[in-house]
Parts: sequence; C-alpha cells; structure tokens
Amino acid sequence: MIIKCPSCDSIKVQATHHGRQVFGTVGTVAGVASGVSAATSGARVGATIGAITGPTGSMLGGVAGALLGGLVGGVAGGTVGTTLGDLVDETILDNLHCLNCGHRFSVDTED
Ligand SMILES: [Zn+2]
Repeated sequence: MIIKCPSCDSIKVQATHHGRQVFGTVGTVAGVASGVSAATSGARVGATIGAITGPTGSMLGGVAGALLGGLVGGVAGGTVGTTLGDLVDETILDNLHCLNCGHRFSVDTED
C-alpha cells in the first residue's frame, strides 16, 4: 500500500513512530521500576534458597534474584509499552510526515 500525502499527493511520506518511542521508553522504565520492587522479593527468595549452601550462596542467590527481577520487569514493560505506542501511533497521533510539504497526518484522515 502506497501512502500519499493528502495535502500535496507526494509519496515521500515517513512514519514518525513518536508514540512507539515514548511509550516504549516509559514502559521499559516502569517495567524496570516494578521489576526492581519485585526484585526485592526475588532477592529474598534467592537468599533463602542460597542460604542452604552457606553465606556465599545466600549472597549470590540474592544478587541473581534481584538481577532477574529487574531484567524480566524491564523487558516485559518495554514490550507492553512498545505495543501500546504502536496502537497510539496507528489510532491517535498524526504519525505520518510528508517530506515534500511537511504536512502531518494519520492514515485514517486520508480521503
Ligand atoms: Zn505533502
């Protein structure tokens, strides 16, 4: 499908993906934040399990649990944010930008 600018009929149209970028970043940050709070309990569980093997195991278990919590939270948050941003790009924002005349529009407003 070729997208044309509704203002000047140019086919030099670029998708900006502002929503995707913003929501992806926000989602990652929020995901890491919630992951870090989950990591506290992850660290506790890791430390408890690691405690069976002694003080070193307890420390390693705690670090591993914290890392896993933050990582999983960040990836999950980023994925959710990017998906949400795509949805916003497609439905709400004027995410198409004409490189010929500078007009901004979205696919739905094209007639
Ligand atoms: Zn144009």
